Amino acid sequence: MARYDYDLFVIGGGSGGVRAARVSAALGKRVGIAEEYRFGGTCVIRGCVPKKLFVYASQFPEHFEDSAGYGWTVEPPRFDWRTLVANKDREIARLEGLYRQGVENAGGDAFQTRAVLVDRHTILLESENRTVTADQIMIATGGRPNPHLALPGHEHCIFSNEAFDLPELPKAIVIAGGGYIAVEFANIFHGLGVHTTLIYRGKEILSRFDMDLRRMLHETMEKKGIRIICHEIFSAIERRGDGRLDAYLQGGEVLVADQVMLALGRIPNTEDLGLEAAGVERGKIGEILVDDYSRSNVENIWAIGDVTNRVQLTPVAIHEAMCFVETAFKNNPVAPDHDCVATAVFSQPEIGTVGLSEDEAARRFHDIEVYRATFRPMRHTLSGRDEKMLMKLIVDAQTRLVLGAHILGPDAGEMAQLLGISLKAGLTKDDFDRTMAVHPTAAEEFVTMYKPSYLVKNGERVG
Ligand SMILES: Cc1cc2nc3c(=O)[nH]c(=O)nc-3n(C[C@H](O)[C@H](O)[C@H](O)COP(=O)(O)OP(=O)(O)OC[C@H]3O[C@@H](n4cnc5c(N)ncnc54)[C@H](O)[C@@H]3O)c2cc1C
Repeated sequence: MARYDYDLFVIGGGSGGVRAARVSAALGKRVGIAEEYRFGGTCVIRGCVPKKLFVYASQFPEHFEDSAGYGWTVEPPRFDWRTLVANKDREIARLEGLYRQGVENAGGDAFQTRAVLVDRHTILLESENRTVTADQIMIATGGRPNPHLALPGHEHCIFSNEAFDLPELPKAIVIAGGGYIAVEFANIFHGLGVHTTLIYRGKEILSRFDMDLRRMLHETMEKKGIRIICHEIFSAIERRGDGRLDAYLQGGEVLVADQVMLALGRIPNTEDLGLEAAGVERGKIGEILVDDYSRSNVENIWAIGDVTNRVQLTPVAIHEAMCFVETAFKNNPVAPDHDCVATAVFSQPEIGTVGLSEDEAARRFHDIEVYRATFRPMRHTLSGRDEKMLMKLIVDAQTRLVLGAHILGPDAGEMAQLLGISLKAGLTKDDFDRTMAVHPTAAEEFVTMYKPSYLVKNGERVG
């Protein structure tokens, strides 16, 4: 007779939790998983997937415009927001089913309920009003948008969650935030024809990305018609008599909009989870503190993904789940590797990036070479679109190791994925140089920038 009902119980059916549950169940472990909202979690239901579908939708107006230079005449196009939302809903419902089935087909039990810890081996399944026990417990409850309760009128604002299901497409929106979610939504709404303003308290959008890309994206977005106001925050949001919103800025300006969206960071879902009862320690913003192997201070309780506030990306949560399975069930301790994570911002134009920004490399390395190219991509020659592409390689002058690769332009995310392999493999600039170009592509620039554009020595730009 087994001592516990399950070998593993997972709380949270998102990217990390489902992977941990499915792979553990496939190993023959007795696995249960609880999801309080919808299987698939943030990524599938209200994150990466619907976001990317909306990005595609918002790109069509430029495609229609660009087609004229290639000889096409397009009837004045019309857009229907409700069709987009309904089609998006159908796709995520399909994916949701696959996530749940994946666990069940592997032999796991999937529960549609909120779950909380009662003690270090006992979980309460709230909707079923019963407890189950488990030897190992995985917390993968993710995070949620920061509600910014200190802002007067915050109750009138929406967050990324609501942005996916608005009953009507607003005529005007103001988005607060400078991270990738704020920037992506600014581009989505603008592309769909919404008058869009982005306000950000910092000096430039997208902190932590390479400054060159941040500036050039900022300029390009403004040229498209998105208003970006840096060094600014809301002081209050008020509902007007006509139902629209007044967004008061600290500098005195008042912006009128149909929707105000807050994208001011995310906080881990750890409240009322029974962590105190189980003795699990949390950090400053409520994140679960874990060791290198994703184990909390309680030996049999683990945490992965956004709830640990390490790197908040889907592939990272999945990687942490796979490492957990190796460590907990295969007697092969593997620590997740958070170094050199390639990533994209699905702005328009897109950003793809891997490794160190120029500023970060200059801080860490004595002597760096910067290879930089800006050019009009071929697709914009006949279209006449006045939009440039930027590509950059950051190289350690001493070892020739490529430290960072950065792209702004069409398909940047796809390129970053492949460059990620080169950087992870520790390739040098000489390896890039002896790689044959694929012609004609934009990506060939990465193997044809033979001479550095400038050097940075002791943090100072020379040449
Ligand atoms: C708008 C947006 C766009 C994004 N775009 C990208 C992108 O392009 N690329 C990328 O890599 N990442 C993106 N992300 C981030 C990505 O979605 C997350 O990093 C990823 O989903 C984290 O996975 P997770 O398993 O940690 O948590 P989640 O996917 O958030 O899953 C946690 C699950 O736990 C459930 N839960 C919480 N508490 C309980 C409880 N007590 N009982 C039962 N269930 C519970 C929640 O309902 C949720 O389903 C985006 C995020 C957002 C918000």
